[in-house]
Amino acid sequence: MATDPTEWDYAPAPESEAIGRVKERYLPFIDGKFVEGSGDDLVSVNPGRDEPLSTVSTVSEADLDTAVHAARQAYEGPWSRLSGAERGKYLFRIARGIAERSRELAVLEALDNGKPIKETRDFDVPTAAQHFFYHAGWADKLQHLGHGPDPKPLGVAGQVVPWNFPLLMAAWKIAPALAAGNTVVIKPAETTPLSALVLAEIIADADLPPGVVNIVPGAGDVGAALVRHPGLDKVAFTGSTTVGKQIQQTLAGTGRKLTLELGGKGATIVFSDAAIDQAVEGIVNAIFFNAGQVCCAGSRLLVQESIAEELLTRLRERVDTLRVGDPLDKNTDVGAINSRSQWDKITELTRAGVDEGAELWQSSCPLPDKGFFVAPTIFTDATQTMRIAREEIFGPVLSVITFRTPDEALAKANNSPYGLSAGVWTEKGSRAMAMAARLRAGVIWDNTWNRFDPAAPFGGYQESGFGREGGPSGLAAYLDTDDEALIG
Ligand code: NDP
Repeated sequence: MATDPTEWDYAPAPESEAIGRVKERYLPFIDGKFVEGSGDDLVSVNPGRDEPLSTVSTVSEADLDTAVHAARQAYEGPWSRLSGAERGKYLFRIARGIAERSRELAVLEALDNGKPIKETRDFDVPTAAQHFFYHAGWADKLQHLGHGPDPKPLGVAGQVVPWNFPLLMAAWKIAPALAAGNTVVIKPAETTPLSALVLAEIIADADLPPGVVNIVPGAGDVGAALVRHPGLDKVAFTGSTTVGKQIQQTLAGTGRKLTLELGGKGATIVFSDAAIDQAVEGIVNAIFFNAGQVCCAGSRLLVQESIAEELLTRLRERVDTLRVGDPLDKNTDVGAINSRSQWDKITELTRAGVDEGAELWQSSCPLPDKGFFVAPTIFTDATQTMRIAREEIFGPVLSVITFRTPDEALAKANNSPYGLSAGVWTEKGSRAMAMAARLRAGVIWDNTWNRFDPAAPFGGYQESGFGREGGPSGLAAYLDTDDEALIG
């Protein structure tokens, strides 16, 4: 039978699950050892199949005490006596350890989180290694940060990370803390604890002195107990604005340093002179990378009215080619949503968009029968008052609003309680700069999106939090400095 040569599809190209070396059970890492926690076990689910993946022993408040005590002992003992150059050597070793186990980590992260292997392989894991490499280089150069000839660390840092970039967020938090000379107790998210516990193996293999890094799996109550622990000198949190506010209240008056990296409702602003095909790629990257489960996602598209129709036609055509499905398939563009509860939240907000009168369009890509998947979604005729234009959906859902003038675009982009990311697409450099100066967002991209570098500070304004992570400002947040401009 003759086949139509224009109708073809990619053959499946699944990465082998065995490479992830998923263990039946994972243990907390406290004082240099893997120990049974005395909390209840949790089951980590593979969101790509809605099946249990592994069991994790969690910590109790007593275990947290042990971890914070171990971090204090390590801080006052070996760690604070080491020179910066010696600390740097450990960080280089950890970076190399991540690189050596990168393929395993990429598969494990795709299984535990649901994001596609091409993202874990090409972004999460290499960027995690880069954070250790970058900060290793700073460890013996802290005197050049501009905080005096001999800046001092803070002590013990308590860190809580979310589920959307589990390994990368752990690296992003641990590396600057150690480079600055602090010790760490870190809690991974309940739904994605596995890669942090493999990082613990890498840390153990690097012979880091016991207690310098402690990894304490558990649910939100463990996070709450950690951040209020009196033995901490610093708290760093990435996650929802709701929990960030609670943490700020908990820490008020304690004198402890705090950085909060919270939610966002980023605006991609496309002017009529923009290179349309590049802008389309940028919009796709901004909202469908990690299925939109990104704090700095470009979840609002502001497009100049004169090109709206053409841009949206090309955008829908492009989005229709995105392949949604098995996170382990190397052809997959959009993987699974991390959990059933996140899937429920996205579904509820999508329904609210329809109920409030926006026009729904969804890609025709077939979705797997099992697992938590959402078709890439574009809402047009959205207005500023709709929930889909105001709330962080944290899913592959784009809300499109039009504008006529730069001032209108600015007013609409800034009309948000958040202030994490924004992007401007225009051929005119002067217009991009003028917009950047007036956009209230911590990160502003010019004719691009999702460019990250450990040397570039990242953080927000308003309800997106305060403090910067990455670059010299991120290091300052782990040093005893009065420079509030840098530490938020
Ligand atoms: P949370 O803010 O609840 O989770 C982030 C981290 O904080 C997790 O490790 C969580 O633990 C922990 N945690 C939960 N409650 C507390 C607490 N009271 N004190 C200290 N730590 C706590 O986010 P969710 O996972 O519930 O996601 C909800 C929404 O938050 C998402 O839909 C999204 O809109 C937003 N979000 C934003 C992120 C960002 O990067 N800006 C990241 C993640 C979510 P556990 O996971 O074990 O509950």
